Amino acid sequence: MTLRPQIGVLALQGDVREHLQALTAAGVDAVGVRRPGELAAVDGLVIPGGESTTIVKLARIFDLLEPLRDRVADGLPVYGSCAGMILLADRVDAGGSPIEATIGGIDMTVRRNAFGRQVDSFEEDLDIAGIEGEPVRAVFIRAPWVHEVGPAATAIGHVSRGEHAGRIVAVRQANLLATSFHPELTGDGRIHAYFSEMVRQRA
Ligand code: GLN
Repeated sequence: MTLRPQIGVLALQGDVREHLQALTAAGVDAVGVRRPGELAAVDGLVIPGGESTTIVKLARIFDLLEPLRDRVADGLPVYGSCAGMILLADRVDAGGSPIEATIGGIDMTVRRNAFGRQVDSFEEDLDIAGIEGEPVRAVFIRAPWVHEVGPAATAIGHVSRGEHAGRIVAVRQANLLATSFHPELTGDGRIHAYFSEMVRQRA
């Protein structure tokens, strides 16, 4: 793999510009992806937060849903944040808001809007396995949590305190990475740097 890979940001909805900036700061070529031809050209992909049902609908309209599933199955490194995490889940828990279809790839069950309506958004410092130094400031916005991970996936971050302490909010499975939170909003580039390294190291 080249030292300067090209990483796409699925540009249907969400914090596309912030992700592009964070990836550029991590030293990769960052491009928006809206067409199957653009998806075919990238070495890695970020799926931003937004509304997962809307992103699935738009992906279908833009003829991206099947190509996304195919590229994930082929081992493309993909990082999903928040709604992007939901799209990478193999299973969505019936205890949260339903969604009719996802991309899948990570052996986990996610619960949409899991933290409840009273606390739509909150921030917390988390330890993430594989991220050195200070804890990561995690911003949660109507976030999912990971209800359970199957044997193929590894939980790498948990809520550390409060009533939801212990809930899984970051997961890694081979070339796939997912977080419930939005690292593009804090100016801390370590999650994007970690993902860029996954892309560089792709076997
Ligand atoms: N609540 C959204 C969903 O279920 C995710 C929110 C987000 O991405 N910030 O799709």
